[in-house]
Amino acid sequence: MSRADRADGASETRPLSIDRMASWPTLAPLIERAGRPLVIEALRAWVEERRGTPEVASEAACVHWCTARLAAFLQPSQRRVFNLTGTVLHTNLGRAVLAEEAIAAAVEAMRSPTTLEYDLGGGARGERDDHVAPWLCRLTGAEAATAVNNNAAAVLLVLSELAAGREVIVSRGELIEIGGAFRIPDIMARAGCRLVEVGTTNRTHLQDYAAAIGPDTAAIMKVHPSNYAIQGFTKSVAAAELVPLAREKGVALIEDLGSGTLADLETWGLPHEPTAREAVASGVDVVTFSGDKLLGGPQAGLVVGRKPLIQRIARNQMKRALRLDKVRLAALEATLRLYADPGRLAERLPTIRALARPAAEIRAVAERLLPAVQAAFGDRAQVSVAEVRGQIGSGALPVDLLPSFAIAINAKGLDRIADNFRRLPIPVIGRIGDGTLYFDLRTLDDEAAFIAQLDKLHVVAG
Ligand SMILES: *Cc1c(COP(=O)(O)O)cnc(C)c1O
Repeated sequence: MSRADRADGASETRPLSIDRMASWPTLAPLIERAGRPLVIEALRAWVEERRGTPEVASEAACVHWCTARLAAFLQPSQRRVFNLTGTVLHTNLGRAVLAEEAIAAAVEAMRSPTTLEYDLGGGARGERDDHVAPWLCRLTGAEAATAVNNNAAAVLLVLSELAAGREVIVSRGELIEIGGAFRIPDIMARAGCRLVEVGTTNRTHLQDYAAAIGPDTAAIMKVHPSNYAIQGFTKSVAAAELVPLAREKGVALIEDLGSGTLADLETWGLPHEPTAREAVASGVDVVTFSGDKLLGGPQAGLVVGRKPLIQRIARNQMKRALRLDKVRLAALEATLRLYADPGRLAERLPTIRALARPAAEIRAVAERLLPAVQAAFGDRAQVSVAEVRGQIGSGALPVDLLPSFAIAINAKGLDRIADNFRRLPIPVIGRIGDGTLYFDLRTLDDEAAFIAQLDKLHVVAG
């Protein structure tokens, strides 16, 4: 209790006035950080909690209590983490990490008014798509392009413009669900289309599509199976094989590539993943793909294809509700620009950098980190370097295929240990499998920050 309070005659058994407490010098730093209204709210809660108790509000205890109470407010809810799960494009961890060029462009757009829909040449209104459409056309060979909030929005928009009230044919092997309740049949219903399923789960033939086309058919849609693979006795019809049929019958051919990519992944020793350019070249009318999967940009849904169709799609009323803001458009434009120089992509685009990272380099990281992690556990856990396989994630090639190296922790109470790693200042997210906690180091880009916080690890293993 401060002298001012006593001079004021505040009784030891009566709560102090909130205003007086708020003027305690020891509370000033908290007010500086959290702002006065939140601190006053905390002080009220403190007084409320002690109502009826004879003991006086001790200044130090009160400040400590308020600081603890406000900790959750002072900590951002969305925080940086280390994604050491082995899944490079982890949807729950925010998918692609942006290139420095994209970050700089986004920051600039956030800070200032921009030419979002303004044509400097004529001083007149411009189109927001104009910032990315020329790049998308150039990189995919398409006649026209438009961009929306995400690929789910792209599919919804395309279907509702081209096929509302009519039928869309999809193979039963492609009626997928992607995490977060994106299910092809549901999206069809939302877009007001009637889904016509053809073929079986494992086999669909060209003839199945041909037989299903009727007077009400608006489109055939191909969907990249993304997050699952059918193996064994299978048959699917490639989009290219469907082109002559769609042309002959006068129906649109739509392909949802999901992840899609603008670069040839084989360049970096990875398996082939369909590129948007290949889909366009094969004659597909409209192709959709994500901005924040393999492309390595911000969340976005990209639609490329034949000009008359793209123009209709871009003019659809729903586009207004699904459009991108200036910040993401700036980041997307800067990301697309990097693709003009594919030779430097592995250097500049974090997604490609992580995917192209040689296993030997990852092993060297693991060996550099091993002593520090071993030291943090002492003899309470067995810590070693393990050979592992990671995933691209986000629906590209849904199998473990990226040869990598991890720090492996074997001990009792692995869940507790994993939890303690998640409680570090920069939470570390790993993966538990075969009774081992793995930290796949393919995506570790800041070794110093990882090591610097190990001394805060609360080691509980036994
Ligand atoms: C990921 C994916 C989507 C959804 O894309 P978002 O950008 O997450 O909205 C749609 N279709 C396929 C095939 C996908 O893989």
